[in-house]
Amino acid sequence: MKNPESPADNLLTAEDDALSLSCDAWRRVMEGLGEPRFRADQICQWIYGHKVFDYHEMSSLSKSLRERLCGTVLMTLPILIQDRRSRDGTRKYLWQMADGSRVESVLLDHGGHRTACISSQVGCPLACTFCATGTLGFARNLTPGEIVGQFLMMERRVLDAGLGPGINNVVFMGMGEPLLNERNVFESIRALNHPKMRNLGARHITISTSGIVPGIEDLADFEIPLRLSISLHAPNDELRSRLMPINRKYPLSRLVEALRLYRRRTGERITIEYAMIDGVNDAPQMAYEMAALLDGLDPYVNLIPYNPIPMRPDLRRSPEGRVKAFCAALSELHIEFEVRKERGADIMAACGQLAAVKAQGPVR
Ligand code: SAH
Ligand code: SF4
Repeated sequence: MKNPESPADNLLTAEDDALSLSCDAWRRVMEGLGEPRFRADQICQWIYGHKVFDYHEMSSLSKSLRERLCGTVLMTLPILIQDRRSRDGTRKYLWQMADGSRVESVLLDHGGHRTACISSQVGCPLACTFCATGTLGFARNLTPGEIVGQFLMMERRVLDAGLGPGINNVVFMGMGEPLLNERNVFESIRALNHPKMRNLGARHITISTSGIVPGIEDLADFEIPLRLSISLHAPNDELRSRLMPINRKYPLSRLVEALRLYRRRTGERITIEYAMIDGVNDAPQMAYEMAALLDGLDPYVNLIPYNPIPMRPDLRRSPEGRVKAFCAALSELHIEFEVRKERGADIMAACGQLAAVKAQGPVR
């Protein structure tokens, strides 16, 4: 039972919010309102298919149902605070949630093929030394509806601008660590993937994690075979713990064990993300260390140009020569890799640069 006197109970809960409801939850709501179950599918079609968020505009529903819905299920959408466009066409959106918290999302356009990069938390508790989000600290987890809301709002803008059929991929590479908000992230993925909801294919959904071992183990059993990316950034515990404090809790031996389990259970290939930082993790010898560490996993390695952040002026991007030498070592080791093209750096929308101006916690 909710206590209206308690500030915690007055915050939005996942259950209150239309975008946080699963298809089954919508069916239960319809049952409760004495409506047939297929009305739930119609509502999901309006929201996820047509991007119509105003019950009054859902013209296939009776007027009385539309009115009752307004009083029953709150429709809360992220409010757009800022929209910036990069020279390369990448867009960065700053959203404000109902409690005043702010997060960013990025929309990448690869010649009409679009990827939404969305946030899972307000800030991030993991404080990786090279990441702007990590310097903010942590305010709270996003609800499933706040996660799905970023995607739907961006897709509606694409449709409204007449830019084609919508968004093709979603990556959890915005602010926050998705596997520390596992329940809500999984719920948002169910909504994006459900055939009666957004119907986005599992192969078009990627979770990126800093290496939360229990979360990776859960992903191995998750019913939706999405793609998994691991932010490795260092091939040994000494360096990785310095760059990513979470490595002290889940050292490489445990991480690799979880990756082997994931690979065995799902048969899926894992992507390794590795930001090239000059003189820190880019020696060719580290490519050899990485190969030994990941032996038998057949990973796909994504080399990311390190994006400078104002808080760490001492960290610089690896120069071309060092990247080439690293790539040569990977080739020799028969490890498949690509050097990711940098996107959106001029508007601080590239990997690791999201900081939501200053991420805010709830307004009290
Ligand atoms: N918390 C998750 C997902 C968000 S970060 C994770 O860490 O995986 C998305 C990607 O950007 C991660 O691979 C992260 O390690 C990387 N990244 C963070 N800071 C970066 C920077 N300054 N330059 C390049 N990549 C960075
Ligand atoms: Fe958090 Fe990922 Fe940034 Fe690390 S890299 S601080 S886990 S968002």
